[in-house]
Amino acid sequence: MTQVDRNQILFDRARQVIPGGVNSPVRAFKAVGGTPRFVQRAQGAYFWDANDKKYIDFIGSWGPMILGHGHPAVVEAVQKALLEGFSFGAPTEREVELAEAILARVPSMDMVRLVSSGTEASMSAIRVARGATGRSKFIKFEGCYHGHADSLLVKAGSGLATFGHATSAGVPAEVVQHTIVLEYNNLQQLEEAFVTHGRELACIIIEPIAGNMNFVRASVPFMKRCRELCTEYGALLVFDEVMTGLRVAFGSAQSVYARDIPGFEPDMTVLGKVIGGGMPLAAFGGKRHLMEQLAPLGPVYQAGTLSGNPVATACGLATLAEIGKPGFYEDLGRKTQALVSGLIAAATKAGIPFCGDSEGGMFGFFLFPELPQNYAKVMTTDNKTFNHLFHGLLERGVYIAPALYEAGFMSAAHTDADIAETVAAAADIFNAL
Ligand SMILES: *Cc1c(COP(=O)(O)O)cnc(C)c1O
Repeated sequence: MTQVDRNQILFDRARQVIPGGVNSPVRAFKAVGGTPRFVQRAQGAYFWDANDKKYIDFIGSWGPMILGHGHPAVVEAVQKALLEGFSFGAPTEREVELAEAILARVPSMDMVRLVSSGTEASMSAIRVARGATGRSKFIKFEGCYHGHADSLLVKAGSGLATFGHATSAGVPAEVVQHTIVLEYNNLQQLEEAFVTHGRELACIIIEPIAGNMNFVRASVPFMKRCRELCTEYGALLVFDEVMTGLRVAFGSAQSVYARDIPGFEPDMTVLGKVIGGGMPLAAFGGKRHLMEQLAPLGPVYQAGTLSGNPVATACGLATLAEIGKPGFYEDLGRKTQALVSGLIAAATKAGIPFCGDSEGGMFGFFLFPELPQNYAKVMTTDNKTFNHLFHGLLERGVYIAPALYEAGFMSAAHTDADIAETVAAAADIFNAL
């Protein structure tokens, strides 16, 4: 330990000039307590904080760093792009290449538009859905996060299939009156919502594997019914794959559902995180007739000064090239499974109720004997035990999400030794509990 805690000094300084000292709330460690680590630099599967302490990084910038930090091919592409110019406000070849590369991986989309954040992308996808259907209402599920656009910052009201209440100050009730919030994986609520509002629904927006309430899969029967009801009532199924896109499989989560539901496809897909490889880049896309609703072709307006930024697209393209190599997802998935099963074994040995799940390079674990199916259940986690585990791991140089409702991320740079070290650290903590 250094004598002076530079993380603390930086945090104190930060709090004077940035609300809460952070530019995105979960970074503040509010849920777990303590001082956030200020990252100095990162390489591969590791980063170093302001005290020069090294951590195995299982957040990877909340998903984008699927190759680990500073992958040489990506760094080279970004350096080259930087010398050619930062931003032009005119179209570039790389935007076309990235659009083609994305469509090749997620074939349910015929066209895609690039933006700079997942928030923008899901907000715009909903605008397209509303514009194309001429309907206002849409369904979202409790515990799913789709960015911080006003109409999406909503939680369920009391009673079944009621309209949501804003979860943030500054969002007028009128703005969320068209947002219907349902429980994830609750078939009965889904059926009832369609009976009541089916012909007024523009879309369902869903995280197919919800990574913003730790890691909860939509069950196959639930997803199948979402698809059927949307088709029957003329609503669109919008997959928010900002987190799962190119992270859980080459073809994203939709390809995972297509294994069990023949011919399964969403109408629209929202992407972010991995497709930018750590740069501000996101996208939304879907069927041609829907995407042709967008300006300049159609009446749905959407724009962005830095959209399709030449440096960000270079980073995304280089990342996509690497993750497209044979065996990439097999190796990533194997390591993620090894971590989750190692943690389960260590907890079980210590007599601690514990379970976990993973898909590709995304995982979650719970201090429960069985996997939860919805947000309400996730939130019954024993906070104290989770915080103890979090801080124990942090002390031992393992950085997991500082909140029990967040997923974890493996990268190609993590080694079997990193996984063994993480499991040993967790075992240490479990045994002392
Ligand atoms: C991260 C995330 C978003 C928001 O993306 P930003 O780039 O942070 O605006 C939206 N949806 C999901 C599923 C996400 O995980």
